[in-house]
Amino acid sequence: MIELPDVERMIESIAGYTTGKTISTILIDDADIVEIPPEIATEYLEDHAVDSVERHGRYVVLKFRSEYSMMFDMGDNGQLRLESQTAPATERTKIRLQFAAGRELRFSSEGSEGVVTAVKEGEFSDTGALESLGVDPLSEELTPEKFSSLASKNARLTLKGFLLNQKAIAGIGNDYADEICFQAGVRPDQKVAQLLPEQLQQLHRYLRRVLRRATLHWSAAHSDPGWLINSREKGNACPRCSHALKSLRVTGRKTVICPRCQRAA
Ligand SMILES: [Zn+2]
Repeated sequence: MIELPDVERMIESIAGYTTGKTISTILIDDADIVEIPPEIATEYLEDHAVDSVERHGRYVVLKFRSEYSMMFDMGDNGQLRLESQTAPATERTKIRLQFAAGRELRFSSEGSEGVVTAVKEGEFSDTGALESLGVDPLSEELTPEKFSSLASKNARLTLKGFLLNQKAIAGIGNDYADEICFQAGVRPDQKVAQLLPEQLQQLHRYLRRVLRRATLHWSAAHSDPGWLINSREKGNACPRCSHALKSLRVTGRKTVICPRCQRAA
């Protein structure tokens, strides 16, 4: 599943080249995923420059110097990357934005993952997608007080269900939700209503710490032997206490915990 730090990395790798450059040709390879009417592509996107590349939760928004933006819902495995225009399309290719300057921005995904749309300025709320997104976990807006108030609004969910609720906090997916609970020493399968104030504080602190580190220092985080994310597939020992890790299903999702390091209230 694509999570906030992954989206940040993709944006970082494409923003420098794309910003300010004009798109000459748009090639739609999969019309089931790309819901952009050809007349919109021709009139408002082709021959217009990209003004900015922004992240909203797990969405990437490419703002054009026209009244339109292109919105990418990355799905579980979507990918945006720069390629040479001579690189052939593959069965994963959904859309190619070719720049007059020579390269192309390509959105690819496995199967039917992801959605690409064009949205007119001022009409984002009509799409429903961005408007209903919760607070960004890396923004200053997510204070400890805000986190506690969101928790009380989601009191009936499991902790994992709360962290994954994109309408509360936008951008956390399965693996980072488990990492946050592990680092904070709290069980993801307990009900939010049962969390103690100090557990909420710990969760807020580690939520910021985990996502910030994964965003700014992705490689270091993803090779840190102390992180659960690097042990979850092996399904064996806890990186902290060496006790056997346990795999559960919480809110329908595969969840890895250390029963010794993570305690219920
Ligand atoms: Zn442990």
